[in-house]
Amino acid sequence: MISWSDADLFDTLRKVFGFREFRPNQEQIVRAILETRDVFAVMPTGGGKSLCYQLPAVLMQGTCMVISPLISLMKDQVDGARANGIRAAFLNSSLLPDERDRVMQELLSNSLDLLYVAPERFTLDHFREMLGRVRISMAVIDEAHCISEWGHDFRPDYLSLSDLVTLFPDLPVAAFTATATHLVQQDILDKLALRTPLIVRASFDRPNLFYDVRFKENTDLQLVSLLKKNAGKAGIIYRTSRKSVDETAAMLKAKGFRALPYHAGLSDDNRKHHQEAFIRDEVEVIVATIAFGMGIDKSNIRFVIHADLPKSIENYYQETGRAGRDGGTAQCTLLFAQGDISKLRYFIDAMTDEPERKKALAALSKVISFAATSVCRRRSLLEYFGEHYPLENCCSCDICLGTREVVDCTRDAQMLLSAIVRTEERFGAMHIVDIVLGSNNQKIRDFGHDRLKTYGVGKARNKQYWRQLVDELLAQKVIEKSEGLYPTLFLLPKAVQILKNDEKIAMVRVVDKKKEKELYGTLDAQGSNFDQELFELLRILRKQIALEQGIPPYVVFSDRSLHDMASIFPRNDESLLTVSGVGEVKLERYGRQFLRLIDRYCSEHPDRVR
Ligand code: ADP
Ligand code: ZN
Repeated sequence: MISWSDADLFDTLRKVFGFREFRPNQEQIVRAILETRDVFAVMPTGGGKSLCYQLPAVLMQGTCMVISPLISLMKDQVDGARANGIRAAFLNSSLLPDERDRVMQELLSNSLDLLYVAPERFTLDHFREMLGRVRISMAVIDEAHCISEWGHDFRPDYLSLSDLVTLFPDLPVAAFTATATHLVQQDILDKLALRTPLIVRASFDRPNLFYDVRFKENTDLQLVSLLKKNAGKAGIIYRTSRKSVDETAAMLKAKGFRALPYHAGLSDDNRKHHQEAFIRDEVEVIVATIAFGMGIDKSNIRFVIHADLPKSIENYYQETGRAGRDGGTAQCTLLFAQGDISKLRYFIDAMTDEPERKKALAALSKVISFAATSVCRRRSLLEYFGEHYPLENCCSCDICLGTREVVDCTRDAQMLLSAIVRTEERFGAMHIVDIVLGSNNQKIRDFGHDRLKTYGVGKARNKQYWRQLVDELLAQKVIEKSEGLYPTLFLLPKAVQILKNDEKIAMVRVVDKKKEKELYGTLDAQGSNFDQELFELLRILRKQIALEQGIPPYVVFSDRSLHDMASIFPRNDESLLTVSGVGEVKLERYGRQFLRLIDRYCSEHPDRVR
């Protein structure tokens, strides 16, 4: 067995990948693999799983075989590895016969460090026979949860991987996934029969993601304002229905944003085209149902907006998790209206499979409590996955930044409740709010509601406040809405307690808008300690190169690399090599063009160079 020194490891990390340090757990996993030990690792998206096997693949003799379920991801991974000078290829059904022959040839002549294959290939006799004739260094199973029947996207083909350890008795087998409960983990370990593997469960915390929940007031306006703040950055807007996806995309387009829709109702061609345009930075925004995201490796997604409630915390975590894979800051915003809850409930109530219905309902109530409470978002998310978050203040969510406060609203609630009682529980939310506000409209006059004792008692606050309070009372099960075309509000037992002053009620509110603006202002300034204009120029150059070479822009350089360049202004090779993500091959391939651009920029703006 060859043994590798620290210098080997760190040299490869620097020269091939352009990184100075390992991310958490990477070094331990790399070392285990180099010692031919089996590995099972659960690491969050963006945790840097690929490097864990790509680095050993570069060092070890022979080809590292990576079994991966998604064809689109294979191509991306291969592009990424090749951009770093790693000899990589893939074998799957998308290849033409002569392309396939070429890959086979490379494999047989031992000139591949990495080979990505689809699991189906393992059921083919001739593939197995061929494996016997080539030198393999290790086997990697990506998206390993697919092997578990308890996992959410179980793939029967993956069962053929159960005999990998018999096939490669002397080689390390490493399994990676971003989602595995302990049940799934055990199932994977059993099915693969890993031999005293190193087991790693990384923290699911994504420190570079900022979590933010806002009251949904006017979706279109709010989306436009969020997009303006994120101008030029790539992002995803998630919506529940195909119709709302189409409408939102059209609305944004009309307002001049480069946005495209994505949902299962579009033709395959259209979907593919829209996804490509997004990946290649041709459009900034994709508006999508949850159909979008699987098989997307785009590392420079800077924001994810949920314009509707996600179905579950898992979904929310996974969907927001697509942001900031490159480690740069990214913003995750959920627009939350109590009104959305009833829409989702309506769908859930229509479900006929009782266990499924119960599951969906339980998942929804977790989402509601995530959105409606004043607990740190990061803490809530991690606790959901059974992880304890050690810090008091994460400094990177709306709650911890102090943009929300919990206020007692018992007196106001009493006003609303009393208006409901005095009108005998026969009216809907709008009318009740009109009474409290003292609106002078026909309906109020017709019913003589301007003579009620509660008429106009809430004038001091605006309509939006009262609507929000009604939503809050609904959410906290103080009142309920009747079924039917014209739903009316009626009291639940808790309302009586509140009216009798036996119970108090509080709600989470935005602290005053000015303070909120300031807080978000400091946030926007964070992580933007670079020259914006130079960054934009670098982005244009990156896109141009990507187009010429037929690869996604983030494969040329990550946003992170460009940020570094726009803040340290490298003027020569040595300096460019200190930029995160610039290894020797990228330096050789792209260095000259980028240095030339930076050089010109510096001479045109000598005042900006730090
Ligand atoms: P995962 O597969 O776990 O979602 P990736 O392997 O795609 O994550 O890595 C995510 C991003 O992190 C990539 O852009 C990669 O280049 C970067 N990365 C990986 N390891 C490191 C490291 N040690 N230092 C800096 N960036 C890293
Ligand atoms: Zn927090």
